[in-house]
Amino acid sequence: SRLNKEEQEMIARRERVLGPAYRLFYERPLHFVRGEGVWLYDADGQAYLDAYNNVASIGHGNPTVLEAIGRQAATLNTHTRYLHEGILAYAEALTATFPAELSQVMFTCTGSEANDLAVRIARTYTGGTGIIVTSHAYHGVTSTVAEFSPSLGPNVDLGIHVRTVSPPNPDLPASEVEAAFSREVEAAIADLRRHGIKPAMLIVDTIFSSDGVIADPPGFLKAAVAAIREAGGIFVADEVQPGFGRTGEALWGFLRHDIVPDLVTTGKPMGNGYPMAGLIARPEIIADFGRNARYFNTFGGNPVAAAAGQAVLEFIRDQDLVANARSVGAYLKAALETYAGRSELIKSVRGVGLFLGVDVMEGGEPSAAAAARIVNGLRDRRVLISASGPHANVLKIRPPLVFSRSHADCFMEAFDATLKDVMQKGR
Ligand code: PMP
Repeated sequence: SRLNKEEQEMIARRERVLGPAYRLFYERPLHFVRGEGVWLYDADGQAYLDAYNNVASIGHGNPTVLEAIGRQAATLNTHTRYLHEGILAYAEALTATFPAELSQVMFTCTGSEANDLAVRIARTYTGGTGIIVTSHAYHGVTSTVAEFSPSLGPNVDLGIHVRTVSPPNPDLPASEVEAAFSREVEAAIADLRRHGIKPAMLIVDTIFSSDGVIADPPGFLKAAVAAIREAGGIFVADEVQPGFGRTGEALWGFLRHDIVPDLVTTGKPMGNGYPMAGLIARPEIIADFGRNARYFNTFGGNPVAAAAGQAVLEFIRDQDLVANARSVGAYLKAALETYAGRSELIKSVRGVGLFLGVDVMEGGEPSAAAAARIVNGLRDRRVLISASGPHANVLKIRPPLVFSRSHADCFMEAFDATLKDVMQKGR
C-alpha cells in the first residue's frame, strides 16, 4: 500500500468511531488541513487545485463571508422567532433574484430538509402524494427524500408513491429532447393514476448532476413542467447543484429552461460552507401549508446564516462571478472538447458554465474503471474532480466559481498528462 502510517491510522480510527456508512474519496485518501480560494492544502503543505467543490463556491476561506459570520456571531445569534433586520434583508435580497412569482422563502439548514419540506408542501397543496424523479436522481438523506433518491442504490427502496423517468437524453437530436422527456413524465403520471395515486410533484435537479450532467438544449423542461401541472401536480426545481450562478447564464439553473417553478430548493453554496439551505415559493403554493402546519427550524435562517447568505450574494454580484463562470466555463469546455473523439477514452463533453461532465468510454462502452483511473491520476497530479452518472463514468468537473483561466490552464495541463498516462499504462 502507498498509504503512510499516519494515513493508515486515521483510516482505522475513522472506521472505529464513524462506523461503516462513510466513504472516503480516492484509492489513496487525501488529508487536507487548510483551504484558500481554489486551493486545498494537505498535511505536508502541498497545494491541490480544487476543481470539484461547489460548497465553497466563492472560494475556500472567503474573507468577506468569514468577516460577516464573525461579526454577526459576536453580536447575536438566535433564530427566526424574533424580529431581526438581517433575516428580513437577506430574505428580500434572495427573493429579489427570482422571477416575481417566487416571492417567499423558508429557511432550512440542508438541501435534504428543503426537499423534505417541498414534499410536505406539494402534498398539502395538491392533495396528491405521487412523486416523479429521474432514474438516477439524488435529492437528499431524510427518510422521505431518500425514498425518491434512486441514485442511493438498490438497497434504498423507492417509496410506493414514487415513479422514475429516464433523464433527458443528450444523444437525441436537440429538437427531440423536450418531447421525449415529457413523454416519460406523462407515462409516469399515467402509471401513478393506474395505481390510484394522484401526482403531487415532479422534482428535478435542473442540471441533472447525478444523472450524468445534462444541460442542453436549454428549454427542454418546458413540456414536462406543463404535463405535471396539467395532471394537478407542481414542479419543483432542485437548485442545490446549479444554483447561485454555477451555470454561468443566470443565478438559477431553471432560468435556462425558460420556466418558473412552483417551488425551488437551494443549499450547498448558499452560505459558502456555513450550513444553510432554503425553499423559495409562490405564495399561493405555501398558503395552506402555512395555515395548517406551523414551521420552525431551530437553526434555519438564523441571524448568522442570514449574514453569511447576504455576504455570498453580494460577493457573487460584486465580483461578477456569473460572468466568470460563463467565460471560464466556456474556455475549459472548449479545451476539453478537443479531446472528444481524438482520445478514444473521451466520448463527449457536456454541461454549462462551471459544471462540466466528460463521458469516459472504453471499447465503446461507458467505463467506470477508466473514469476512476483518470480521477485518481489527476489526484496524483494534485487536481481534484470526481465521477458520477448511472455508470459512474462521467467526469464531474465543478470548481469554485472563482476559478480563473490560469486555473483552467493548470487543470488542462494535468488532464493532458493524466490521459497520456492512462492510455499508455492502462493503469
Ligand atoms: N439535492 C441535490 C441535487 C444534491 O446534490 C444534494 C446534495 N448532494 C441535495 C439535494 C441534498 O443536500 P444536503 O446534502 O445539503 O442535504
